[in-house]
Amino acid sequence: CQHCHGKSKDRVLNVHHKESRKTGGDSPGNLVTLCETCHKGYHEGRIQLKLTPNKSYRHASFMGIMRWYVYNSLKELYPEVSMTFGYITKNSRIRNNIEKAHSADAYCISGNLNAKRIDEIYNQAFKRKHNRQIHKANFLKGGRKKLNQSAYEVKGFRLFDHVRYMDEECFIFGRRTSGYFDLRKLDGSVVHRSASFKEIKLLKRQSTILIERKGCNGVLLS
Ligand SMILES: [Zn+2]
Ligand SMILES: [Zn+2]
Repeated sequence: CQHCHGKSKDRVLNVHHKESRKTGGDSPGNLVTLCETCHKGYHEGRIQLKLTPNKSYRHASFMGIMRWYVYNSLKELYPEVSMTFGYITKNSRIRNNIEKAHSADAYCISGNLNAKRIDEIYNQAFKRKHNRQIHKANFLKGGRKKLNQSAYEVKGFRLFDHVRYMDEECFIFGRRTSGYFDLRKLDGSVVHRSASFKEIKLLKRQSTILIERKGCNGVLLS
């Protein structure tokens, strides 16, 4: 609480707009964290805020403010929402001998360690569907730049199509008009740098979110 600095012992913080949201906006400089006691007191006219005048709050931790902003907004929609902290997650992870991995985070954060975990994880990656660079980086003779638009489809395949090559599932990371493609896993590891389109089978059309299914040991499932 930027007014009482904890004296009220109220542990619930609100975000207060110094100028109304309409005129002052949601920028960090216009936001103050106040405990609910002080916040109510201010709006009911019982207290005057002791915020050092002209002091810039820009340096107040952005996360410190935004966390409460997000939390309070969510809480209005879902009353059962509660807050947890990294040290709690870490503590329950170590106490229960759980590996440190992104795939274990949600499990530890949920706090329900009696839940049975499914033994597979989904690895997702966002990929742009089009190469949006308009020109090649280097100049041609005569000072012109070569257009960079590559064909949307080459031999029936698109960039980031999910395909099967020699019993391996992978994605198309690069195509040559000759029909030889660069095939990789989502993490970028190479399956084949120049595989003929004739030996590639389309499994799933490209989409903005690419999904790979893995076992908890990190081994790809197909
Ligand atoms: Zn307070
Ligand atoms: Zn307020």
